[in-house]
Amino acid sequence: MTKAIEIRKLSKAFSHCCALDGVSLNIDAGEMVALIGASGSGKSTLMRHVAGFLPADSGEIVVLDQVVQKEGKISPTIRRQRAEIGFVFQQFNLVGRLPVMTNVLTGLLYRTSLWRSLLMRFSVTERQQALEALVAVGIEQSAWQRAATLSGGQQQRAALARCMVQRAKVVLADEPIASLDPESARNVMELLASMNRDRGCTVLVSLHQVEFALKYCKRTVALHRGKVVYD
Ligand code: ADP
Ligand code: MG
Repeated sequence: MTKAIEIRKLSKAFSHCCALDGVSLNIDAGEMVALIGASGSGKSTLMRHVAGFLPADSGEIVVLDQVVQKEGKISPTIRRQRAEIGFVFQQFNLVGRLPVMTNVLTGLLYRTSLWRSLLMRFSVTERQQALEALVAVGIEQSAWQRAATLSGGQQQRAALARCMVQRAKVVLADEPIASLDPESARNVMELLASMNRDRGCTVLVSLHQVEFALKYCKRTVALHRGKVVYD
């Protein structure tokens, strides 16, 4: 396998606008690619399609050699495929009332049986893995705090720890630093870069700030009104 993400002629219209207009994009395994574009250019819509959260009007997406969606139909095995895909969003997608540790462990839910995940039963080894991931992102001292009590930067680090525990091969990060102060933003970008470099994760990260794209990503793709205008 050389391609991690293949997007072919993807189009999506919402009632009043065309959010994606024939987007084609290939990302090799092991790449770290920045997706830039003004607000409303289609970055989030594209990411949601890649994860199979949203069916397109036409076109095809293949992730890690498996079809995620084709001509408006999402793959019936999408849940299994998502085990390999990690997400980080601008609005820290953690469960605020649960401890950080539990949030990180939910990275394993795609891999465990339904009853185990319903009971949130995790083995000692799994808890050990979660703790190691928290050490890797530098927030192990907050492991038992409720996620809502963490700063934005710490919450994003917890979201990255969850991707590590999940052993995601592809990480989709949708404006992960948009709500952070510059120092935390740098930390989160460094962590994403190290997941790419040291763990071989393929990373697609949408960014508002062009300077971060140039600093951390070898390749930058720009969207404008649902079209790729620069690659
Ligand atoms: P970006 O993430 O680059 O800011 P989005 O992907 O969120 O852009 O949005 C692209 C376009 O699609 C925008 O014009 C937005 O208003 C529209 N859009 C996105 N999601 C929806 C939706 N669920 N319903 C209607 N329009 C939407
Ligand atoms: Mg967006």
